[in-house]
Amino acid sequence: MSSARNALGWCRTSVLDPLLATVFPPRCVGCGRFETYLCDECRAALVPVGPEVCRRCGHPGVGSGGPGWCAACVGEEPTYRSARSVFLHEGPARRLVSCFKYDGLRVLGRLLAELAAAEFDALVGEYGAVAITWVPSHASTSRSRGYNQAEVLACCLAQSVGAPPPVRLATKTRRTGHQRGLDREGRSRNLTGAFAPSPDVESSAHVCDALARSEGVVLVDDVFTTGATVAEVTRVITGATGLPVDVFTFGRTPAGFPQRAD
Ligand SMILES: [Zn+2]
Ligand SMILES: [Zn+2]
Repeated sequence: MSSARNALGWCRTSVLDPLLATVFPPRCVGCGRFETYLCDECRAALVPVGPEVCRRCGHPGVGSGGPGWCAACVGEEPTYRSARSVFLHEGPARRLVSCFKYDGLRVLGRLLAELAAAEFDALVGEYGAVAITWVPSHASTSRSRGYNQAEVLACCLAQSVGAPPPVRLATKTRRTGHQRGLDREGRSRNLTGAFAPSPDVESSAHVCDALARSEGVVLVDDVFTTGATVAEVTRVITGATGLPVDVFTFGRTPAGFPQRAD
């Protein structure tokens, strides 16, 4: 099964992606210019999240005064050790993620990883050894999209910094509705029981070896919106492995984290 998946991955990377690029030549996701997926002008328009963030959840715009935590994290610590993102989820960054996720442009995984490689390298470098994984999607979603964008991004990021290939640590056991528009309780209810540890955590010698060597887990996703999904996946992974989790995403919804009014 694993070798079949590898063969399929090789076929897509080596044959299908170049073929698709010939039939559908690259166009800038931001302005439509041909011959590149992101032109220099649109690349310059990406807005980095920057260093002024909550030290726990990565919420943008939290200064370095005090403990450096946002109001939500002071009220209740997240399940993950930290969460950090590279670009605000707006403009060309938002278009990149949307085309990567919904338009079948799997090839964009490499571009996203290239843009996020320095920050990812810094995070992975905080550990002597780390297991890299991704936020799972439901099998039916991956089937209809052709891939799970978080898994593709995790693989491309690991490759870009010379880290070992990601391992599957969690699965999504049922489909869930959109988190957006739900209140805190609704988000929690929507996700209850939606994720479970991957059988690989116990049955795959390769995954067990990787976990035994690792001091922590880096969980990759495309965008951090409310944080409810990564918090739930972290809970499942830490419960199964005993390891702390750091969340890494390409995009960050600027107003995504609901700040408690206190
Ligand atoms: Zn452009
Ligand atoms: Zn926070």
